[in-house]
Amino acid sequence: MTTPPAIRIDNLVKEYAPPGPGEPPKLALKGVSFDVPQGGIFGLLGPNGAGKSTLINILAGLVNKTGGSAEIWGFDIGENPRNAKRSIGIVPQEIVFDPFFTPFEVLENQAGFYGIPRSERRSEELLRAVHLWDKKDAYARTLSGGMKRRLLIAKAMVHSPPILVLDEPTAGVDVELRRQLWELVTELNGQGVTVVLTTHYLEEAEQLCDRIAIINHGELIADKPTRELVGMAREKIVAVTVDKDLGGPIMEEAFTRAEVVEPRRLEITYDRDRTSAGQVLALVQSHGYAIEDVTTREADLEDVFVQLTGAG
Ligand code: ADP
Repeated sequence: MTTPPAIRIDNLVKEYAPPGPGEPPKLALKGVSFDVPQGGIFGLLGPNGAGKSTLINILAGLVNKTGGSAEIWGFDIGENPRNAKRSIGIVPQEIVFDPFFTPFEVLENQAGFYGIPRSERRSEELLRAVHLWDKKDAYARTLSGGMKRRLLIAKAMVHSPPILVLDEPTAGVDVELRRQLWELVTELNGQGVTVVLTTHYLEEAEQLCDRIAIINHGELIADKPTRELVGMAREKIVAVTVDKDLGGPIMEEAFTRAEVVEPRRLEITYDRDRTSAGQVLALVQSHGYAIEDVTTREADLEDVFVQLTGAG
């Protein structure tokens, strides 16, 4: 028997009311279906306005779906909202705390909200896990932005959900803090928590997620293991430095594109299924240039993204 998915999304539709009189309603999700497997880090990727937050907010019970269905840990969000909600912890995009509570109180209040008896609360364990134990008695308003985000993650884990969802966890966050958050997410996943994160940072999805779904304009356009998705980029780029100034671009049938980027430097894009780097270099040499330096760039998720969305 195969393991049931952590989340099952089936033909999910969301139509928002028209923004003004005479305007059409906004179709934010146009029948999206995919499964989030248990135990991994799943990335929901898409440009701004794609429908990511709408989807997460439907799972969180904050937005009502117009059609389709969703199950969280086997519980239908419409038929069994209580159990569905108990199975998921959501870290919102925006930081909202009562500034006069301490991190310890924030977690205790949240536990109270879920009706967790004192003896079963995990406030200390969670604060230690997000490296905030030494701040347990500080006012939330005195925490740094990074500390607040870590506190939000602890807060989402208070009721020990098997699934943690992070909505744009690193939007507007500096490099160091991003690394810390990635570490924390990886740690939690290592402890068995299924993680779902939305992001519009391709690098984040590529580094962190083992599976990625891409939505664009409310439609699912990809849902694959990260490695497979990155492998879909067929184009490769080789930059060649030659021994004398280039008279103009060298175009060959084997190249998709050739661009002179510096007087002696040429960037050639080619389809790796049809051409090899060796062939590209031989063709450049056949134009009478000696090659002094070569760098190739591996295709990454950004290339796939551009291909799939037609962006860029
Ligand atoms: P993302 O999270 O991928 O940036 P959203 O889910 O926030 O995308 O938005 C998807 C689309 O739905 C956008 O066109 C957005 O303008 C629209 N939208 C989002 N929330 C509302 C709302 N409350 N009312 C009307 N339209 C909305």
